[in-house]
Amino acid sequence: MSTHESGTEKTVAVCPECGEMYVAHAQPNGTIRPLGVTECSCGETDLQPIR
Ligand SMILES: [Zn+2]
Repeated sequence: MSTHESGTEKTVAVCPECGEMYVAHAQPNGTIRPLGVTECSCGETDLQPIR
């Protein structure tokens, strides 16, 4: 059973610097793409997935 859309799965990304959280898409290759932002409001671009 699959609820995936186009091979991506919604997840949450967290900024390691300030702890801000963003909705993101987890991709099959293991990377994540935050939705609507390219970087955190503090300037950090290395947002990390949380589980
Ligand atoms: Zn941040």
